[in-house]
Amino acid sequence: MKLTNRVALITGGGRGIGRAIALAFAREGARIAVLARTTEQVAQVAAEIESEGAVEAMHAECDVSLKESVEHAVGSVMERFGRVDILVNNAGIAESAPLHRTSDELWERHININLNGTFYCTRAALPSMIESGWGRVINIASIAGKTGAAYISAYTASKHGVVGLTRSLAMEVAAKGITVNAICPGYVETEMAAHAIENITTKTGKSETEARDMLNRMSPQNRLVTPEEVAALALLLASEDGRGINGQAINIDGGSVLS
Ligand code: NAP
Repeated sequence: MKLTNRVALITGGGRGIGRAIALAFAREGARIAVLARTTEQVAQVAAEIESEGAVEAMHAECDVSLKESVEHAVGSVMERFGRVDILVNNAGIAESAPLHRTSDELWERHININLNGTFYCTRAALPSMIESGWGRVINIASIAGKTGAAYISAYTASKHGVVGLTRSLAMEVAAKGITVNAICPGYVETEMAAHAIENITTKTGKSETEARDMLNRMSPQNRLVTPEEVAALALLLASEDGRGINGQAINIDGGSVLS
């Protein structure tokens, strides 16, 4: 077991990548807290973990874009488990629009959830890691944090921000036993990718199969990544095995972005 006695907090842990990470960490012995706005989904993931019987799990309603909500939720995790050892900033949204049709609301939604949410959660959880002298911050960014693509300026700007935050914070806490890294996936088989496919079919008239093929072809492996593959990388970063990896933004995209 690679995470025995660790406490892991995963934002957006109700479905998709966050859910896969929560389940993977629980199987390695970590106590789990999953946070999201949709209480039923995080409650279900916590119940699923507890039903396996090995570790404790809790859920809390949280909107990561609201600092009071974050402080309240992180406070409830501290109350239940006494500390946070591993923070996975996974909660995120992705919407597309040409820049000249990007509304203030769409822009601010991306910055508030993807970037400010990562900042609020990290600021709230970090003191516990500094106090214990051990910690892991894992930010689920995107290859959109490394490169650009048409119609996703707001998403790309927010994810570049997450990569920048990762690099600076990693330098700040490197000597305190804490590592800070980002994971940069290409398209992953989740609801988010399903929405992207739906969007392509609506906007271009392509069939669902054609739209999926378009996403597949963005990877040299001609496929989408699975949430479990992202969870396996997160587990490496969270475990002792990953202690030398710090300040990195690691692509998991079949090789579509080579930097
Ligand atoms: P998903 O299936 O849509 O899940 C997103 C999760 O984030 C949900 O649990 C959602 O729960 C939560 N969330 C969204 N807004 C939130 C908020 N304001 N406060 C708290 N929780 C919030 O998406 P996913 O594919 O698993 O994505 C997870 C992360 O991976 C995101 O950061 C995304 O940008 C990144 N990523 C995904 C892909 C991909 O192709 N799927 C590729 C690269 C990077 P509620 O809506 O209930 O709050």
